Amino acid sequence: MIAVRCQELTKNFGRVSAVEGVNLALPQGRFLALLGPSGCGKTTTLRLLAGFELPDRGKIEIGGRLVSAPGLHVPPEGRSVGMVFQEYALFPHLNIADNVAYGIPKGMDKKKRVVEMLELVGLTDLANRMPHELSGGQQQRVALARALAPQPALILLDEPFSNLDAALRQSVREEVRQILRLAGATAIFVTHDQEEALSLADEVAVMIEGTILQSGTPQQVYLRPARREVAEFVGEANFLAGEANSSHVTCVLGDLPLAEAAHGTVEILIRPEMVLLQPDPAGAGCVEHINFFGHDQMVQVSLPGGVRLQARTQPRLDLIPGSHVRVAVEGPVVAYS
Ligand code: ATP
Repeated sequence: MIAVRCQELTKNFGRVSAVEGVNLALPQGRFLALLGPSGCGKTTTLRLLAGFELPDRGKIEIGGRLVSAPGLHVPPEGRSVGMVFQEYALFPHLNIADNVAYGIPKGMDKKKRVVEMLELVGLTDLANRMPHELSGGQQQRVALARALAPQPALILLDEPFSNLDAALRQSVREEVRQILRLAGATAIFVTHDQEEALSLADEVAVMIEGTILQSGTPQQVYLRPARREVAEFVGEANFLAGEANSSHVTCVLGDLPLAEAAHGTVEILIRPEMVLLQPDPAGAGCVEHINFFGHDQMVQVSLPGGVRLQARTQPRLDLIPGSHVRVAVEGPVVAYS
């Protein structure tokens, strides 16, 4: 069953086109990342889904119910949507249990639900604490428990990890994912962090300038980006000029297999980890620069004709600036006309 569906969702602010013809369909129980650069319309899309903004055009269906269409605007509290904000927005004067209890509707057993939710997020022992007595990660879990407590059809998370320092972010991300999974929740989170989107989400929708250019699994958007802009935004990318001949492309690195048939003049995408370097005094490539990260390294290589490539390799002692290398590419490449 589809938990949330948008059709042709559009929102302008004066002359700024914030969201332009967005179509989305997310099955129940899935976790979608809305990924894009700053100002591309992610937050506006989330606010349209939540009912905080009125669309200029389009329809929204949540939990099988139409909540937004021409002449119809169901207010936020009637949409069965739970929100988790960047700054968590906990009520400072309520303890943790009361924060979680806040939105639980009358028909539900409040006490039981709060106990269940605190258990789910692992904060049973902190039920009587006040929000300022919790760490950032704990506050995040309370915000999630509060959003999940009324059993909404959809959870929306706005840059939920950006307030946490890098060391904590990784573990909190994993916790949030597990909690959502255990709760069987359907969720959409917005982020501009590619790694976060790729590592956490079941599906990634890449949004650029108000439009979703591609949605698919993390593997699909990373390995088979439908557009050059998607390839550029989702991870690091080398682009080389080539001449495609159906299943192969000829470029400065020789003949490479194509992931999908193409013809004529193209640009091909080569991810840095697809580039293989072998030290060879007669090799056509020359190592220009190395950024060493410990677990791996990014090697900049120059090729004949002024072409430059970034290659991600294991940490190695046999590549040094000025040395010559043979350059090969592993796997089929994607071409753009
Ligand atoms: P960020 O990652 O920086 O939060 P975003 O992708 O969430 O960005 P939005 O906040 O949705 O982007 O903004 C999309 C565009 O709409 C931007 O150009 C922004 O300046 C504009 N915009 C958003 N809200 C308003 C508003 N209330 N009034 C006028 N313009 C707005």
